[in-house]
Amino acid sequence: MDKRRILILGGTTEARDLAGRLAERTELAVTLSLAGRTLDPAPQPVPVRTGGFGGAEGLAAYLGSHAIDLLIDATHPFAKQISANARAASGITGIPLLRLERLGWEEVSGDCWTRVASVADAVVALGEAPRRVFLAIGRQEAKAFDAAPQHHYLVRSVDPVDPPLTAPDVEYLLARGPFAVEDEIALLRANRIDVVISKNSGGEATYGKIAAARSLGLPVVLIERSAVADDHRAETVEDAMRLADHLLASFRKRGV
Ligand code: NAP
Repeated sequence: MDKRRILILGGTTEARDLAGRLAERTELAVTLSLAGRTLDPAPQPVPVRTGGFGGAEGLAAYLGSHAIDLLIDATHPFAKQISANARAASGITGIPLLRLERLGWEEVSGDCWTRVASVADAVVALGEAPRRVFLAIGRQEAKAFDAAPQHHYLVRSVDPVDPPLTAPDVEYLLARGPFAVEDEIALLRANRIDVVISKNSGGEATYGKIAAARSLGLPVVLIERSAVADDHRAETVEDAMRLADHLLASFRKRGV
């Protein structure tokens, strides 16, 4: 019997974990797709293809030409464009789409969060008075903080911010998670940080800065996700495994 073919849109820990779990199944052929943003990506347990598809139409064409049976969007909660493309490509081709998106973090006692809807709103939330800001939102959107040059920024990212910010008082730190809470506390202390900016990414790997801010009594400006309705959603790798089986079975029944 032909193997069922799955394309996972990745770039997250969950995508790698799911790929590893599905790769144990000999009846499946799994490919993982990466955008190619990270200069030195982590090793992956399945064959990888790298780079954009050329929009929703390009992705739809790829799904057809590679006889994909199931598309899994396991990209980061803030990677909006590729998720929109995945929904459109599934609509164009009729190939089922499963969205794996980890839950966001919830505020607990001792947290002091300002929740905002966008990076631009996070810039405004910093206020007029100069502050020492830990900016840990990835390198792609850090440039937005040039609009508030009165603050000191410590910018942490996996790859260099290029071009760098034009704001005058910026330090850069290159590091890849996971980050331990104790290390995050030490980092915030050593740099006399007084506010943390983060996306509500969810997951364990980058929660350390949130726990560290709580422990030091520091405020966090948290950029929230926009709500999107997907037909088939999973929040964990386990749920995604179950839903993948269900979708593969239904797709075969329809005889597509
Ligand atoms: P994005 O804005 O949603 O996507 C921009 C374009 O990049 C897409 O239209 C697509 O190009 C290409 N692309 C994105 N993800 C892809 C994938 N997995 N495979 C092939 N092409 C992909 O994406 P982004 O926010 O730049 O994120 C890029 C990657 O980094 C994603 O894999 C995401 O999971 C990961 N990531 C993002 C964040 C974040 O905060 N945004 C954080 C951690 C990891 P075409 O239109 O040409 O197909």
